[in-house]
Amino acid sequence: MALQRKPNSGTRKLPGVDKKYTHGAVTVRWQSARCIHAGVCVRRLPGVFRPKEKPWVRLENASAQEVIDTVALCPSQALSTVV
Ligand code: SF4
Repeated sequence: MALQRKPNSGTRKLPGVDKKYTHGAVTVRWQSARCIHAGVCVRRLPGVFRPKEKPWVRLENASAQEVIDTVALCPSQALSTVV
């Protein structure tokens, strides 16, 4: 069964960290208030999502497509791709 995803809330401001990380043509948005710490991102791309480091997102360590595919799997939409 394909997952139905609601569009990200765009400009709605949540409490907590709201950051964007850019590398090349890819920008990833991180909204900490949405994170449920499922760890999907960390398990799938441990070179990119490094929660013990600052900055914790290192987009240069994977291809744009790998990042896009992994962000799409974030179950809470804490991660989203900005276009
Ligand atoms: S996949 Fe999404 S919800 Fe899970 S740890 Fe990463 S950012 Fe948080």
